[in-house]
Formats: sequence, C-alpha cells, structure tokens
Amino acid sequence: MADFDVIVVGAGPAGSVASYLLAKKGYTVLLVDRGKRVGSKNMFGGRLYAWSLQEVFPNFWEEAPVEREVKKEVLGFISGNEGVEVSLSWEPQAKSFTLLRAKFDEWLSQKAEDAGVEVISGIRVESPLIEGGKVKGIVAEGDERLESEVVVAADGVLSFMAEKAGLRPPLRKEDFAVGVKEVIELPKEKIEDRFGLEGKEGAAQLYIGFTGGVIGGGFIYTNLNTISLGVVARIGSLYESLDKVQYSMWNLLDEFKAHPMIRKYVRGGKLVEYSAHLIPETQFLREVKLYSDGIVLVGDAAGFCVNYGVTVRGMDFAIESAKAAAEAIDHALKSGGATSSNLSKYLELLNKGMMRELDQAKKAVDLMENPRIYTSYPNLIIKLMKHMFHVSGRPRKSLYEASKEFMKEESISLFTAIRDIWKMLRSL
Ligand SMILES: Cc1cc2nc3c(=O)[nH]c(=O)nc-3n(C[C@H](O)[C@H](O)[C@H](O)COP(=O)(O)OP(=O)(O)OC[C@H]3O[C@@H](n4cnc5c(N)ncnc54)[C@H](O)[C@@H]3O)c2cc1C
Repeated sequence: MADFDVIVVGAGPAGSVASYLLAKKGYTVLLVDRGKRVGSKNMFGGRLYAWSLQEVFPNFWEEAPVEREVKKEVLGFISGNEGVEVSLSWEPQAKSFTLLRAKFDEWLSQKAEDAGVEVISGIRVESPLIEGGKVKGIVAEGDERLESEVVVAADGVLSFMAEKAGLRPPLRKEDFAVGVKEVIELPKEKIEDRFGLEGKEGAAQLYIGFTGGVIGGGFIYTNLNTISLGVVARIGSLYESLDKVQYSMWNLLDEFKAHPMIRKYVRGGKLVEYSAHLIPETQFLREVKLYSDGIVLVGDAAGFCVNYGVTVRGMDFAIESAKAAAEAIDHALKSGGATSSNLSKYLELLNKGMMRELDQAKKAVDLMENPRIYTSYPNLIIKLMKHMFHVSGRPRKSLYEASKEFMKEESISLFTAIRDIWKMLRSL
C-alpha cells in the first residue's frame, strides 16, 4: 500500500492549491517543499490576478496577506534621461492584488495544512521514484523513498521532476527569461503621496525603453509599506546584446532605479530584500508533456507562465492548472488508477478552460518580440511629446511633419508602423 494517495512536490501557489483541493476531496496528501519555511525562496514581480484563486477561496483578500488592490496602471516609456508615463486610475471589475510571496505562500500552504495536508518544508525532493516506467512516488534527499498513487510536480520553472520523469527535454538558455527584484521600504504615507494612492489602493507600473534593445523592461508594484521594483529580460536577447552593451541584470536594474523618472519613487527608501528568478518562455510549453503514468505537471513546471516582455503572469495560471489537476486526479483515482489514459482528463479540462486564455496571451508574447517596442517606439513617443510641448516663440513644424521626420530618424516606415499597430490591435 502506498504511503499517501498523492505527493505534491513544491509549495508554491500551484502545489498548495492542488494539495488543498485533493485533501478536501478526502485523499491523503503530502506536500513537500525544499524551502526552510514554505515560500521563503519564492519570488515574483508583484501582482496576483484574483480570478482563479477566488473560485477556491471566495473573497480570499479579506483574510490573505495581500498588500494593496491595484487601482492604478502606469505604462512608461524611457529614452535616455527622459520619459513619458501614461496612467490609468480605475475601478477594475476583475480584482488583482500586490503581495509578497514569502507571506502569501505561507498562508496558502497553511490553508492546505488546515484541510488535512501533511506539509513538510526544508526537504529537497531529488527525483520521482520510477518503477517499470511508471512514477510510483518520490526520492527525497537522504535517499528517502515515499510511495504514492500519483505525484504532482509543482516544483517550478526548473522542475527536475519533469525532466527526470522524461516529460521534457533538458533545459536550454532559450527556454528562459530572468527577473531580478528589490523590495524597498518606505513609509506608507510616502508611498501613497508619491504614487497618488489612497488607503489600500495599489499601483502597477511598467516601463520599456531603457534596456538598449534587450527584450525586457522594468516594473514597480506598490505594497503597503514597501515597493517591489525589478527588471525582466529574455536570456537569449541578453546574450545577443553582450558584445554591444555590457549589460548584466543587476546593472540594468541599477540603471532603471537611477533613471530620473524612477528614482523619485524610491528616494530615501531602504533596501530590505533582493532576489532573482527564472521565468519559463512559451516555447517551453510546446515541448512539455503534461502528464504520464503516475505524474502530473502543474504551474511553472508545466510552462504555464506568460512573459509579456515587461510583465509576467503565472500565479493565476499556476492556480488554475492546480484546480484542473486536482479534478483530473480525482477522476483517475476513481476510475481505477492514475494511468496516463485516466489522467488525460487533465488536458481535456485545460483545453476547455485556461488554454484558450493562455493561447491569447501567447499572441501578445509574439508581439512583444518586436525589437522596435524596446527602442524605436519609446524614442518616437518621447520625441512627439517633446515636440507638442515645446514653445519657444518661433514657428515650428506641424505634428505631421515632425512625425515624418522622427519616424525617419528611428528607421520606421509608414508601412512598418501600420503593420505593427495592426498586429498590436489583433494581439492584445
Ligand atoms: C521576476 C518575476 C516576476 C514575476 N511576476 C509575476 C507577477 O507579477 N504576477 C504573476 O502572476 N506571476 C509572476 N511571475 C510568475 C510566477 O512567479 C510563477 O508563474 C508562479 O510562481 C508559478 O507558481 P508555481 O507554484 O508553479 O511555482 P513556484 O512558485 O516557483 O513554486 C515552486 C515551489 O517548489 C519548490 N521546489 C522546487 N524544487 C523543489 C524540490 N526539488 N523539492 C522540493 N521543493 C521544491 C520551491 O521551493 C517552491 O516553493 C513572475 C516570475 C518572475 C521570476
């Protein structure tokens, strides 16, 4: 007899939600995480879209350690020392929250524990336990073997569980982007004044144009009394630029933070945390098999994450995939066992639900591969704004004449601009 019905590896959002739902269905579940405390090693940019978790825990924000509800969106374009910010203050129908993962992930795993899941932290799982070509459990550090009917690999972007179970090829640098982030402490009132917020309102601010053509950008998310500030870049694009510009992620972050438009937000703040993490790129998903006999992949381990170039979205997909996995595992265990064919319900559920959303999101990712987005267009927008507001008492060119001149300077033909706008309208 197996030690547990289900063993879940990794207590990020995917692992905790899968464990919680399976325990609620009456299964014995073990959730193992390598972090000393659950969540202690986990990082992200800063914003959780609430839709998928809301179905598991209605109004979770009333109880969970979320920081602020996002009510202000800013898109910023940077060129040299100058910049333009476009800002939207709104009452979104679909909620989203800023949060800090160490606190949030601990809360989520506590929900799983309260539902009866056995949660163990500080233990690294080395590999799946494979017998006769089927996954039968896990091998944890110290050669500790534990058996289960099914294993959920929720061990994040580097998922050695997926690789060792033969569900995806070994990793290559093209499969990833990378993000670095600082958490900067500031008094709550200062954050509200600087970002134009009231009470628990939060801001999500994204910036492009400072990366020297590297596909990537910067983000700022406001927490209650800290700011999450960071930079995301495609690793392939970073490599290609290495001989032109000596960019490392940390000096990109320093440049971003020191920019005149950005430094005013963090002035006088105290650095309390810094971290770096990989992000799966979309081609990753194409090469992954999502399940096989005795094992299911969820969250980043399956590649369910979208890197839009500047901002990343993965937590909501991780949670949604965990819900589908829990349902598929329940179905399989009630239908005679976690065979590949019984687990195929997982793909069925994903295809009916979040895959459509993910496919739509991937179109936006293709759009963000356009290098002009990171150089020419921010320059063009800033030049046009400067032209509009320039008053010297002398006659100046019309905006039309100026646009033609600036487009030429940025090597953007009218045809290219129309094509890019058309693509943007169809992708977003
Ligand atoms: C810079 C950056 C910014 C991002 N910004 C956002 C954002 O603003 N919004 C958003 O929705 N998403 C964002 N994401 C993506 C988001 O963080 C991920 O998609 C999400 O965390 C995936 O959840 P997960 O549970 O699948 O994996 P993870 O959160 O990575 O959790 C994996 C867990 O597995 C554990 N683990 C790993 N290996 C083992 C092992 N061998 N044994 C035991 N335990 C193990 C880890 O300790 C960890 O707890 C960002 C990502 C990055 C890197």
